[in-house]
Amino acid sequence: MKVILKETAARGLAQTIVKGVEQGGGSGYIRKEGRHLIIGLAGPRHAVNIEQIKAFEGVEAVVSLHHAFKLASREFCADSTVVQVGNVRVGDGNPVVIAGPCSVESRAQILEVARKVKASGAHMLRGGAFKPRSSPYSFQGLAEVGLKLLVEAREATGLPVVSEVMDPITLPMVAEYVDVLQIGARNMQNYHLLKQVGKTNKPVLLKRGLSATIEEWLMAAEYILSAGNPNVILCERGIRTFETYTRNTLDLNAVPVVKDLSHLPVLVDPSHGVGIAKYVPAMSMAAIAAGADGLIIEVHSDPASALSDGSQSLTPEVFARLMQRLAYSMLAREESAVVNS
Ligand code: PEP
Ligand code: MN
Repeated sequence: MKVILKETAARGLAQTIVKGVEQGGGSGYIRKEGRHLIIGLAGPRHAVNIEQIKAFEGVEAVVSLHHAFKLASREFCADSTVVQVGNVRVGDGNPVVIAGPCSVESRAQILEVARKVKASGAHMLRGGAFKPRSSPYSFQGLAEVGLKLLVEAREATGLPVVSEVMDPITLPMVAEYVDVLQIGARNMQNYHLLKQVGKTNKPVLLKRGLSATIEEWLMAAEYILSAGNPNVILCERGIRTFETYTRNTLDLNAVPVVKDLSHLPVLVDPSHGVGIAKYVPAMSMAAIAAGADGLIIEVHSDPASALSDGSQSLTPEVFARLMQRLAYSMLAREESAVVNS
């Protein structure tokens, strides 16, 4: 349900309404839309007493929301969400690029790649410290040592850092070091983990599950929003289909569809989406043309010796050339918007 308050509503009314709903086991999300405060309310039927809410003097209107995802929906909030990460604004219309290796492997490796992607214009640095590998015999990441190296790389370059958190036990530790908590595709439906990251105020990069529908993905976002964390960034990273020539099928349909359904920013991960480095530039440009709010791209100084995902990692040189050409994709995006206008 969406509650629109009058401009003249008493201060604190929004909080009073949310508190009432929370006492019944529901959740509320207060934000501004134009000059009005709006409140998204969701939860079990008994938690939201519509008549009681309508009776408040400061309530202008109560509107019901049709999608299963309430707080994530554009129906609730027409204005796009901008997630602030340090000085970087995700979702404000200017594409944001997150780049770096799949895994943090050593001090020299992460510092070198951080400096290079920064020089090419990347806005944030990625690097896995806890890796969800298909085989238990594969490199599992440097854990806390890796997180500390990411912090060193942030200090050296000023780039905010993004890293995956795999479970609630290590969440406090990961949250202490990183600027953005990545929820990996394999954990998109780990509802306990989603609730826990929802209790932090850290920006969350929520990857789409390997075989998740758009609705399941938005419901995962709903878990984080309804737990109180509004800083959710969605990330399309390819879904599993019958196709075998690529690692996944990058679902670029999802970009304009999700931008329509939700106010949350949407990034695209072409590296995991296609899984083969030489196809990553084309998919990156297509993602921006399709309206993505940015990209997360794997870059490694020596892909052949990478401890994970080398075959889909760009060299810093290719990444630099791609960055120079992304502006052309923005032209394509603007032109495609004109067609429907
Ligand atoms: C990654 O970003 O390295 C990763 C493991 O991604 P995903 O969860 O999308 O597979
Ligand atoms: Mn990877």
